[in-house]
Amino acid sequence: MSTTLDSPVATSVAVDSIASASQSPRRAVRGAIHWEYMVPITLVHGLACLALLPWCFSWSGLALALIGTNVFGTLGINLCYHRLLAHRSLTVPLWLERTFATIAVCSMEDTPARWVATHRLHHMHSDETDDPHSPRDGIVWSHAGWLFRRAPGRRTLTFLEKYARDILSDSYYRFLERRPTTVLYIYLLHAMAFALLGLLVGRLSGGDWPHGVQLSVSWLVWGVYLRTVLVWHITWSVNSLTHVFGYRSYATGEDSRNNLLVALWAMGEGWHNNHHHDPASASVQHKWWELDVTYYIILLLERVGLATDVIRPRHVRHAR
Ligand SMILES: [Zn+2]
Ligand SMILES: [Zn+2]
Repeated sequence: MSTTLDSPVATSVAVDSIASASQSPRRAVRGAIHWEYMVPITLVHGLACLALLPWCFSWSGLALALIGTNVFGTLGINLCYHRLLAHRSLTVPLWLERTFATIAVCSMEDTPARWVATHRLHHMHSDETDDPHSPRDGIVWSHAGWLFRRAPGRRTLTFLEKYARDILSDSYYRFLERRPTTVLYIYLLHAMAFALLGLLVGRLSGGDWPHGVQLSVSWLVWGVYLRTVLVWHITWSVNSLTHVFGYRSYATGEDSRNNLLVALWAMGEGWHNNHHHDPASASVQHKWWELDVTYYIILLLERVGLATDVIRPRHVRHAR
């Protein structure tokens, strides 16, 4: 089994050899309000609150929220944005990579290049001054506060070329970067698809259009808005909670922790100290009970021939 560990991409971003230096506490620079993030994030949270209304509930909507959290969060964010694009821990066919990336876009967590660049910056400067979301600046800041403030340095092409040059070399990701509103259109289109399908299924199963409208709204509220909010907070809790609460298996030079609860709801991503110790690995499971569901999906893809160059944990690599 070959790996991409020593590939130009992996070495250029040095994700496998990150050693945090100073740990001096500081206050992150609070830029102006970043309305382009503040407005949609607040709006979608508001729309998700409609789930409290009994009229907006349906069992199929609840099922869509639970399944969707895994499809859009686990496949889109964990597997694609994080392990596939940011760390190049595996390789999949280009059509599948772009499909996963489009699924990730439906979680409205920014374009692939920006997500990857920001995450690589986090690894390069974990809990240092340049970390975009260190809890040393406050846990609320690390959870979501950092998204609401402008960081002009991270909006430049220079920044993206420094931390995500390999992502920009792909024509699809470059297109999304040149026309970032496309991300919004993709999100709205997929929401519309949920609404239309709900309308049709409700009309056919309930026998009348009012039933169709009710199911349509339910699928939209539970299957899109609430699911989006759940995926956001799952991702954000990895940035916040796993740098504050949990145990440390490795002295990694920053504050990363292994957190069981986050690992459970984030399908493995909560074993964050393991991840900081060995960022190149496709797996964050270092003990038999530190279950990493995302890695099991990667192994499944490998088994059916859709994933190659899957990077094993460091202790397995070194044992070979
Ligand atoms: Zn971290
Ligand atoms: Zn990472």
